[in-house]
Amino acid sequence: MFRIFRRRAQADRGFRDAQRAGQALLQMHAELPTPGSVAATARDTTEAAVVPDFLPPDFRVPSRQDVAGFMMRWDQPLIIDGEVRECPECGAYRNWVVFCMRDDSVWLRCRAAHETRELVLDAAWYNRHSGPADRWHPTLEDGLRHLGH
Ligand SMILES: [Zn+2]
Repeated sequence: MFRIFRRRAQADRGFRDAQRAGQALLQMHAELPTPGSVAATARDTTEAAVVPDFLPPDFRVPSRQDVAGFMMRWDQPLIIDGEVRECPECGAYRNWVVFCMRDDSVWLRCRAAHETRELVLDAAWYNRHSGPADRWHPTLEDGLRHLGH
């Protein structure tokens, strides 16, 4: 978990560096070269040359701060502390959608759209059991449709 956060921090730093380099390039084009600015311009160009392997913002996966939460399908019965979880409203015990929200809370949603907060599970559990997020959905409904719910 800590490793993931550090990697995000590095990505954020990389993004800020890319932004700074982009601004420097814009400035380069906006300003007429004057003898005093030559040194600064040369240094900024070097910084920009380091950036190319960094993806432009449109291609980046949204970070945890950009999304309301993550979701995954969980078709098998979900066993927590030796007990099969059941929907308190309809008794369903499989075909869940599991949500991990931005506040690290974990929620279960059954086929009948009953949503229950699962207090025993947390973001660390979710991260251990989910693959990397490979898709971004503009709405909850879109995400549910994608997961077949
Ligand atoms: Zn239910």
